[in-house]
Order: sequence, then C-alpha cells, then structure tokens
Amino acid sequence: MRYPQTFDVIVIGGGHAGTEAALAAARMGQRTLLLTHNIETIGQMSCNPAIGGIGKGHLVKEVDALGGAMAHAADRGGIQFRILNSSKGPAVRATRAQADRVRYKAAIRTMVENQPNLQIFQQAADDLIIEGERVAGVVTQMGVSFSARAVVLTTGTFLGGKIHIGLENHSGGRAGDPPSIALAQRLRELPFRVDRLKTGTPPRIDARTIDFSKLQAQPGDTPTPVFSFLGKAEEHPPQIPCYITYTNTLTHDIIRGGLDRSPMYTGVIEGIGPRYCPSIEDKVVRFADKDRHQIFLEPEGLDTHEIYPNGISTSLPFDVQYALVRSMEGMEKAHIVRPGYAIEYDFFDPRDLKPSLETKLIQGLFFAGQINGTTGYEEAAAQGLLAGMNAGLYVQEREAWYPLRDQAYLGVLVDDLITLGTKEPYRMFTSRAEHRLLLREDNADLRLTEQGRALGLIDDERWAAFCIKREAIEREQQRLRTTVLQPSHLSAEEAQRVFGDALARDYKLYDLLRRPNVSYANLTSLESVGTTVTDPAVAEQVEIQCKYAGYIERQQDEIDKQRRHEETRLPVDFDYNKVSGLSNEVRQKLIAQRPTSLGQASRIPGVTPAAISLLLVHLKKQS
Ligand code: FAD
Repeated sequence: MRYPQTFDVIVIGGGHAGTEAALAAARMGQRTLLLTHNIETIGQMSCNPAIGGIGKGHLVKEVDALGGAMAHAADRGGIQFRILNSSKGPAVRATRAQADRVRYKAAIRTMVENQPNLQIFQQAADDLIIEGERVAGVVTQMGVSFSARAVVLTTGTFLGGKIHIGLENHSGGRAGDPPSIALAQRLRELPFRVDRLKTGTPPRIDARTIDFSKLQAQPGDTPTPVFSFLGKAEEHPPQIPCYITYTNTLTHDIIRGGLDRSPMYTGVIEGIGPRYCPSIEDKVVRFADKDRHQIFLEPEGLDTHEIYPNGISTSLPFDVQYALVRSMEGMEKAHIVRPGYAIEYDFFDPRDLKPSLETKLIQGLFFAGQINGTTGYEEAAAQGLLAGMNAGLYVQEREAWYPLRDQAYLGVLVDDLITLGTKEPYRMFTSRAEHRLLLREDNADLRLTEQGRALGLIDDERWAAFCIKREAIEREQQRLRTTVLQPSHLSAEEAQRVFGDALARDYKLYDLLRRPNVSYANLTSLESVGTTVTDPAVAEQVEIQCKYAGYIERQQDEIDKQRRHEETRLPVDFDYNKVSGLSNEVRQKLIAQRPTSLGQASRIPGVTPAAISLLLVHLKKQS
C-alpha cells in the first residue's frame, strides 16, 4: 500500500539519534514521520542508565542549546547528579546524571508525542525508495510505502545485529529486540563502505541481594546540578546514591579461567569494541598488573531493584558471569536479573558523509548515531539533531548548517568522523577539542542558541530566557568594566577579607576580578560593590569570561587565523588532477575523501601544508 499522506522528512529509529532528529525536523515546521520498531522503546537506554560525563555532558548541553530533548529528559529522569572535574578548570567540568530508565524514556516519549508536525508509525523499515540519485521514501516490513523528500537513518546497533553470550550467539538488535536484517541487506547493496563493530553490557543485579553496608556510598552533589539551560532542580525526582565496589584477584582468576569460552578471545566476535569502555575480560587481559578495578553500582531507577554494575560489561558465558559477580565485596549473594552480553552490528564509514550528515552518494539520505561508528547516547543525540535539522534545511532548499570545530563539540565530532573515519566505536572526550577553553558546558547556549533560533529550532520561551540571560551578562560586564573601587570605599577588614590586603590605588572592578584570589561572590559581597545579578548562571559566566579572558582571546586569535581555510570551500566536483605539484598519494586521498573545505582537507592524514598551499594557489588561479 502507498500511504496517502506524504512527508517532508522520515526518521527511521526511535533511539537517541532518531528522537532528536524527528523533533528537530518537526520543530522546523517539516511534516515528519518517526518510523520505529516499537513505540514502547522510544528513547530507550540500551545500556547504562546515565547521561553526560566528560565530553558527553558538553554534547548534551549543546543539544539543549539547540532546542533538543536530551537535557530535559535527564532533568526529569535524573536520580543522582554530579559535576565531574568540579575542582578543575571550567573547560573540563562536566555534568553527569544517573537516570531512572523508565522516567527518562517516558520524558522523551512525552516530548515526541506532543510535538506538532510529528507523526509516529510502529513498524520496521525494510527498504528505501531511491529514485535516480535521491531518496524518495521508505517501505515497511508489511509493505507500506511512505514518500518523503528526506530520510534520516538512525538504526543504532540493530543492522545485522548479533548478540553473544559465551560461545552462544543469536540475531538481535539489543536484548529483547529484533535485529534489522532486511534493511541491512538493502544497505549493503548500495555503494557505501560498511564494516562491523561491537559493544557490550554488564549483567544486571537485584539490589536486594547486595550487602550495601559493606560498600562506600556516593551521593550526588549539593546543590543538585541541572542539565537543561531551562532546567530546575525541582523537576528532578528524589535523589539516591550510587555505591562503589571493586574486582579483586579472585575475580580476575575467574575471568582468566573463562577466556577459552569468551567470544572475544576465541575469535567468534570480529567487530572492534569501544577502547574507552572495555569489557571486564578485556581490562583483565590488557591491564594484567592491576589487582583490582573500581565498579560503580548504579540504580536503574526508583521503582525497580535492578542495579547496573558499571565496569563489568562482559560477553563471558553465564556461569563465569555468575561467579565473577559473586566474587566481589558486597556481592557474595548477588542474584543476576539479566545476563551481560556483547552485540556486533553493521556501521557505515562516516567518510561517506557530508558535514551535514547527508550521504555523499544519495541525496536527501542522512545517517546519524551509532550507524556512523559512534558509541553513546549523547554522541547519537547530537548527530540526530544535526541530521534532522539538515534534513529540514534540505527540504526547504536552504543551505546546510553545521558547527565548525571551534564552535561546538558537535563540530569536532562530525569533523572527526567525516575526515578521519573510525576503526573503533568513537566516544567524545574534551581532549578531542583543540579549542576547549571556548567550548565549555557553561557557555553552550551563548555559542549556539542564536544560530538555533535562526534555523527555526528555538521556541519563543527558550529564546526569551536566553535573551534575558545574555543581556544580564553584558550589563554586569559593562558595570564591572566602568565602575571604579577606591581604597576609601572599603574598611580595613573588608579589604583584608576580599583582597588579602588594602588596595594601593583606584581599580576598575573588572581588573580586581581578574586577580586569581578574588571571586565574583567575594567581590560582590562588598557593600560598595553589590551586584545586578540574580541568576547564578549569569554570575558564573561573568566570572569565567573575566578570569579566562587572556586565554580566550589567544584561542580566538588562533581560530581567526585558521578561519580562512575553514571558509574556503572545495566544490564536490573539484578536479584534483588539474592541481599541479600534488603527490599521487595526496591526490588519491583527496579524490577518495572529497573534503568540503580547505580546513577539512588539511586534517586528512597525509595531506601536508605544502599540498594545502598548492590547492590555495590553484583556487586563486581559478577565481
Ligand atoms: P539506538 O538507541 O540503538 O536506537 C535505534 C532505534 O532504531 C531503535 O529504536 C530501534 O528499534 C530502531 N530501529 C532499528 N532498525 C530499525 C528499522 N529497520 N526500522 C524501524 N526502526 C528501527 N554506549 C556507550 O556509550 N557505552 C556503552 O558501554 C554502551 N554499551 C552498549 C551495550 C549494548 C549491548 C548496546 C546495545 C548499546 C551500548 N551502547 C553503549 C550504545 C548506546 O546504546 C548507543 O550508542 C545509543 O543507543 C545509540 O543511539 P542510536 O539512536 O544511534 O541507536
């Protein structure tokens, strides 16, 4: 059957990428269809019930700054919030929330179901309709054809998914869900480069069988952080602690004893797993000198006894899982509710994508999330938002938009993927960003919300809140720059308390705040200084921007110098054979990759600064 209504954008998959993609396209006014296996699993967390962390929290704030859903859902589902690296510089501080799996999923589903312009249809997509070089729609498992001008594929770990527990394996998209076989076969017929990756998850434990009295509790931070720029701590459900236990030498002996039945170590699994989230058997083999590993026992929710033991992801046989779990302190009587497993799946080489996440080979077809070789909900959500928004722009026949590396972690993520590709599941870290002092969690809205508004992603409520905040920051900065504090304005006690000594002369407040030992809170506690600020986020911004002004300006100078290269476009049909002086190796790399800008070309491994100069000369001659 041909479905009578046509859509602008169809999103396949209701995971973290798919929901953000569908919401973004619909927010831009596009008639959008979210086509997913099962409505009950919209927004499901396949693995750990947590959002954020180093680098990942930055992505969540950026998704939020562009009007996305993830931060709101984390605020509504979070049961333990922490700021990681809180004692370090603002660039690497990161928010992390332990989430109640059910509440998180419900929050996402509520947003999806209440989004104007967005329809949901529960069914597997088995085929893509392709007309010439462009996508024209999707065919479902029961043969319903949906027409659309753009399609966003966000199928996660489902394409050709194979689940492993010990030497047993079976097809599956994740535990309890079917794999996507027909679509995987169809995609393999198209000229994309495809390969296999794997990831794994730990067994889940019944909290009633854990002796928490032996374990160290880890409460969340006070005051409780929030994720969304519009979030309030009052939105959070009740907060509960996590606990910490450790593996030990007995655990490691048990694991070594099971390696001959491990699918990873017997070659049954071909795909490469996440380096930064290795299985426990991988950790025991690779770090043989370590006699213990820390394991966080994380509650899966407020209304369940299930505990997620973060750090013992495994695909060892069940009897080994049982023994290794029970060898740890506090876990002697532990009951496993769900066994751990690994999953192998198809992913597509992201070098076949444009920076908008549209495929280079089929117009109007976009890929986002784990299908592009990434791991993690946050990486998926960020790509989903970008792909959904660009699908919207494509339908509107507007130019694609994507942030550059100096504008957002999302820019770093996409540029890394499309320029370098990936051989293993890609995870975001702050160390991947060369301009990380500019790409802080705290300023994600200042970096992106105005752009989001121009793209049609930001509603009036968020825009009004953002404008109030931005004006408050500017007003207070202006006051600090123009107000002078004289020594006579202070008592000796005040001068000692705030500055450590009497002021020698008149100072602008701004210059006083730049002193390392003077905080904004202390400075404005002086009666003669006071503050115009009521919002702590404004105070934080004023303080960070003032204290790091020197470093920020230096990074900005570097960026301005490189910008010229980023803004020099290389057309898709650029003829590299006509550029004289290029080595054959560099020429082949450029032809294979077809970078979209000179900046991207310069980041392709093996493309030398000399080659970039040759390209520049050639471009100048052409213009
Ligand atoms: P998913 O969340 O997988 O969503 C895919 C969606 O597409 C699902 O709703 C599915 O039903 C739907 N779908 C698929 N095919 C079709 C089709 N043909 N038609 C219609 N709908 C379809 N991440 C980490 O960061 N650390 C980890 O340790 C980790 N471990 C993991 C362990 C396991 C076992 C699994 C399964 C995942 C793990 N992940 C881990 C990855 C994390 O779950 C993903 O990165 C994230 O969920 C990816 O989001 P996504 O939107 O791309 O895909």
